[in-house]
Amino acid sequence: MSNDPTEHRRGLMLTVVSPSGVGKTSLTRRLVADHPDLHLSISATTREARPGEHEGRDYHFVDKAEFDRMVAADEFLEWAEVYGNRYGSPKKPIMAALEHGQSILFDIDFQGAMSIADYAPTDTVKVYILPPSLAEMSRRLHARSQDSEEVITKRLARAKSEVSLWAKFDYVLLNDDFDRAYAQLAHIF
Ligand code: 5GP
Repeated sequence: MSNDPTEHRRGLMLTVVSPSGVGKTSLTRRLVADHPDLHLSISATTREARPGEHEGRDYHFVDKAEFDRMVAADEFLEWAEVYGNRYGSPKKPIMAALEHGQSILFDIDFQGAMSIADYAPTDTVKVYILPPSLAEMSRRLHARSQDSEEVITKRLARAKSEVSLWAKFDYVLLNDDFDRAYAQLAHIF
């Protein structure tokens, strides 16, 4: 044990995965807002910004050529293709935050969470958030009116096929009540 007063606790890699339309973004954004020692990893993506999304706050929106360049330059800790678009977690801000003793929250997909866990097996906590039901998930996806019917159908099919993956997570939360799910997520952190 060192007595160095400048030494700080090693940061945690908190990965939060869920099908879309489950309220993951609201839960994770609130967790980050309430915890100054938790840094949100802002992913780069080739998908178009949705109404209300902002560059640098929700994602770094880049074109395919720029994404390819970042892959070739080894600038991602992990990246994956989801629904035909590519998403990646930029290494540099993650390393900087960890160096400052901060923890990192990754709002990413299943493949991404597994890659982060491979990268830092002892420092990664994997949380999976479940919708109350597929019917409720469908209702929420329609209510936010951001995706076409075709994309919603794909997202629901994917949610069904992901069911068997829960066992690979450290924690599984049911988001049937926002405040309760939030309290549980904050407790896990
Ligand atoms: P959306 O297009 O709805 O924002 O995101 C689609 C999926 O991609 C979500 O499951 C989201 O968590 C995931 N995702 C976002 N950023 C990343 C990333 O950097 N890496 C990986 N692997 N998945 C991501």
